[in-house]
Amino acid sequence: MKKAATVLKSNSIRVTPQRLGVYKLLREEKRHFSAEEVYAKVKNHFPAISLATVYSILELLKEKDLASEVRINLDKASFEAKKNEHHHFLCKKCGEIFDIHIELCPTLKRRETQGHSIDKFQGYFYGVCKNCRGK
Ligand SMILES: [Zn+2]
Ligand SMILES: [Zn+2]
Repeated sequence: MKKAATVLKSNSIRVTPQRLGVYKLLREEKRHFSAEEVYAKVKNHFPAISLATVYSILELLKEKDLASEVRINLDKASFEAKKNEHHHFLCKKCGEIFDIHIELCPTLKRRETQGHSIDKFQGYFYGVCKNCRGK
């Protein structure tokens, strides 16, 4: 994996410790974070950072296609480092978001349906996660 700072530079993002901190968090922890969760984490390293700054860094990473926004949870957006196309599962008990990898149906493989061409797609699955089942 390329160094986080190198990736930012090659996307013509001026590297600041705060930007690097947010991007590294998304890349290394491989979770789906709300902006508030990102803020709570990076504040430990950058006490002066504001929630507004976290939002603008997340927007920047999204714009440069280094992060994606997941809208499975209607209460709040979540962010993750950019990965291959995948779907999401939201646990109604613990609120955790999981990546779901399933085989694509023929329509999605063709990237065309009823005359529409498909650029992006996102499946949302809701239920009880493997950790909460049987609890
Ligand atoms: Zn759960
Ligand atoms: Zn994901």
